[in-house]
Amino acid sequence: MLPIVAIIGRPNVGKSTLFNRIIRRRLAIVDNKPGITRDRHYAEADWNGKGFVLVDTGGLIPDTKTELEQEVYLQAQIAINEAEVIIFLLDVKSGITYWDDLITKHLRQSKKNIILVINKVDSEKDEADVYSFWNLGLDEPYPVSATQGRGIGELLDVIVDSLPEEIIYPEYKEHIPIAVIGRPNVGKSSLVNKLLGEEKVIVSEIPGTTRDSIDTPLEWQGDKFVLIDTAGLRRRYKVNENIEYYSYLRTLKSLNRSEIALLLLDATAGITIGDQKIADYIEKAYRSVIIIINKWDLVEKDQKTYKTFEELIEWKLPFLTYAPHLFISAKTGRRITKILEKVKEVQQERIKRIPTSRLNIFLQQVTKHYAPFSKGRHTIRMYYVTQAEISPPTFIFFCNYPEELPKNYIRYLKNQLRYHFGFIGTPLKLAFRARREDNR
Ligand code: GDP
Ligand code: GDP
Repeated sequence: MLPIVAIIGRPNVGKSTLFNRIIRRRLAIVDNKPGITRDRHYAEADWNGKGFVLVDTGGLIPDTKTELEQEVYLQAQIAINEAEVIIFLLDVKSGITYWDDLITKHLRQSKKNIILVINKVDSEKDEADVYSFWNLGLDEPYPVSATQGRGIGELLDVIVDSLPEEIIYPEYKEHIPIAVIGRPNVGKSSLVNKLLGEEKVIVSEIPGTTRDSIDTPLEWQGDKFVLIDTAGLRRRYKVNENIEYYSYLRTLKSLNRSEIALLLLDATAGITIGDQKIADYIEKAYRSVIIIINKWDLVEKDQKTYKTFEELIEWKLPFLTYAPHLFISAKTGRRITKILEKVKEVQQERIKRIPTSRLNIFLQQVTKHYAPFSKGRHTIRMYYVTQAEISPPTFIFFCNYPEELPKNYIRYLKNQLRYHFGFIGTPLKLAFRARREDNR
């Protein structure tokens, strides 16, 4: 998945202008499902075929000096912890200020790639002042003008050159990696603590993994799991999780390394836009998902309430209808080992492979029942289908004129695949290709 590039700097240096400039010029904003508001603080970006997530950390401007100091520190800390590349932005017109020195001090402790960028270099005459920024003792300063668009292409070259080739994470070959995901206060840490404290669950003695380490491997009824970023859930600055981009980064990082996401919801809060956004990331990342409705001890326990929440899920998260759901209480521990049972079940679905012969009988049946139609002028013929990948299951359909296949026919095929073969909790990838002899 994509590395993270964060823009940091004190207020007014031009962080959001630079962010918008980069996005507007060349980059695509992540599209969102209807009803999910677009967030302007982060976007997926792409330059010369290399992708990254650009984050503008400039959301908060506190009004007192002490608050500002804390904010500067927090921002730097988040960038240092979470981003692969840091753009440290300064303003040529104001030179090096007290705040810039403070940020530099924090940044110097990190081993991350830092790109020093001097903004508001609107014309030749500002260029001369850029040299003074060598005094910070960081690397070469890059001049840009976010409003004029000067130096942006060069900056993007520098950014993509400094992206890590591939993000390497510890591998847990036989363990099923699980990310516990959800809005602040839905009960993520409570759930993790309860699971680890469960007497039937053995927290593994893998060298270098302790309860304080980043991930926690565990074993239950002979099966091995690993909870991703357990330390992150209890981090010191967890109180600041309501800084939206920070929870976003944490979510993204945990998702990157997981195969299965537990999407935690708070039964007393219903399903909010924040929940929908997180569900959207999970789907986009092609991770399997189990919806966990927590704090069930606080709401009525009759059948009617279950049904109401199930209807709410169908209404608010219609794109996750394939996800199983569980009603639990992290506080009382009710049904929490059911989660591991479900994880195992979903993982088996995620890694199963359907033989090509069965898939082709399937294709004959479903196209006979409902023949493909074209949004262009040709008659579409489906020739054959094969499962090219597992985790996530990926199917390649060969046909003539794949580009003329309408979206609702693709949806029909996806629904039929689920109907015939299950794949509970698991997103499916479908690709359509022309047979070689059809490429004229
Ligand atoms: P942030 O607080 O760091 O996100 O800064 P903003 O992006 O809100 O910009 C602060 C101010 O600086 C705004 O008035 C911008 O129009 C101005 N600004 C941003 N980039 C440039 C630039 O390249 N040249 C000039 N002259 N002004 C800029
Ligand atoms: P996080 O921010 O998602 O990690 O949420 P926490 O685990 O810190 O929980 C937030 C609050 O909800 C705390 O006060 C918990 O005690 C409470 N809480 C968590 N799970 C449950 C639950 O199942 N039932 C009840 N009644 N409270 C819960």
